Amino acid sequence: MQNSIIYVDNNATTCVAPEVFEAMKPFFGPEYFNPSSMYPSAGNVAREIKSAREKIAGFFNMDTENEILFTSGATEGNNHVIFGSAAANPTRKHIITTMVEHPAVLEVCREMERRGYRVTYLPVDRQGRVSKADFVRALEPGNTLLVSIMHANNETGVKFPIQDLARITKETDPEILFHTDATQAVSKIPYSLSKDGPKSPLSMDLRYVDFLSCSGHKFHAPKGAGFLYIRKGTRVRPFLIGGHQEGGRRGGTENVPYIVGMATALEIAFRSYFEDHGKLMELQRYFESELLARIPDVEINGTEADRMPNTTNVSCHFVEGESILYELSEYGIYASSGSACTSGSLEPSHVLRAMKVPFTAIHGSTRFSFSRYNTREEMDRILEVFPEIIARLRAASPFSRENRHD
Ligand code: PMP
Repeated sequence: MQNSIIYVDNNATTCVAPEVFEAMKPFFGPEYFNPSSMYPSAGNVAREIKSAREKIAGFFNMDTENEILFTSGATEGNNHVIFGSAAANPTRKHIITTMVEHPAVLEVCREMERRGYRVTYLPVDRQGRVSKADFVRALEPGNTLLVSIMHANNETGVKFPIQDLARITKETDPEILFHTDATQAVSKIPYSLSKDGPKSPLSMDLRYVDFLSCSGHKFHAPKGAGFLYIRKGTRVRPFLIGGHQEGGRRGGTENVPYIVGMATALEIAFRSYFEDHGKLMELQRYFESELLARIPDVEINGTEADRMPNTTNVSCHFVEGESILYELSEYGIYASSGSACTSGSLEPSHVLRAMKVPFTAIHGSTRFSFSRYNTREEMDRILEVFPEIIARLRAASPFSRENRHD
């Protein structure tokens, strides 16, 4: 049955781009030196890290490349922000986040509650949006330490208006720190982090954001590398304490190949931004309109909200999600139910629960997430197979209209 794989789980991870792989190779071979060592060959390696840092600072219009901390990914970045800002600002005891964050924020917030902090988890509406009124009400001048709100949700692709929320935060109390987990948006949305505002009208103005975290493996760099943006002058304590690397703010020998790979991946992403963005929007529009036309009792989550063009989260009523994924994989189609981090448990997704997706649909939710490597032909193949699978599973499901007697 299986020909070749159709990979539509790009919010879980992406393939390493061939150019990225090539750029990393020398650092697994002759350029293996520790960048902190004193001989000239090590100096060359240190210069490669510096060059990657400068490139990334340029892509995001940062005021200085020292605002970048290379990390192992967004989990580390998020932990650094929450624990490190609390340690540096001990008089403030309140954190604001949303109910739909990734566990790398939510679980850290729960830990902060155990340590005596109060956390406001903002609810979302049926489309996955936060209310600005709720947000403004939650801010406590003089007491709120940190706001941590993701840019794009990993399960639904729904975007939060972080540009406005960060500005409102600083207008309310400039000492409240603003963090965004931008893991699903970095490379797909151009940002400007400079305090002087964007150079290009196309970039989103993030001058009020203090921290931004991401993971390279969501944009065709390898897993286990990311960076954390920390605005110059922000009060935060180190999270990983050890050597003097990263200006003493993050101990640990730098992951040289992955840092170089991540800079290359971003270079490719921004070079082909318009082409990729246009292609993804077109694929999503086609895929979603055909899904709605071909499958009865189906809804696309967050469809009325501002959403990423690479994510389609579809809830099919009266059918069970894990079986959908199994059946899809039998056809070589790799998708996901909810977030990969929580699949494996039978608990329905915390994101869809927060959006109040009905019980009959929440179990039949599938996330398709695309990359620039996906094609229209692949969409056609999924559109051929998926409705068939849903019809078959519904016929056998205790959730189906026909089989329910309640
Ligand atoms: N935040 C978001 C929004 C994510 O999607 C992910 C990855 N699923 C993470 C954080 C964690 O990233 P990593 O596992 O690479 O540390």
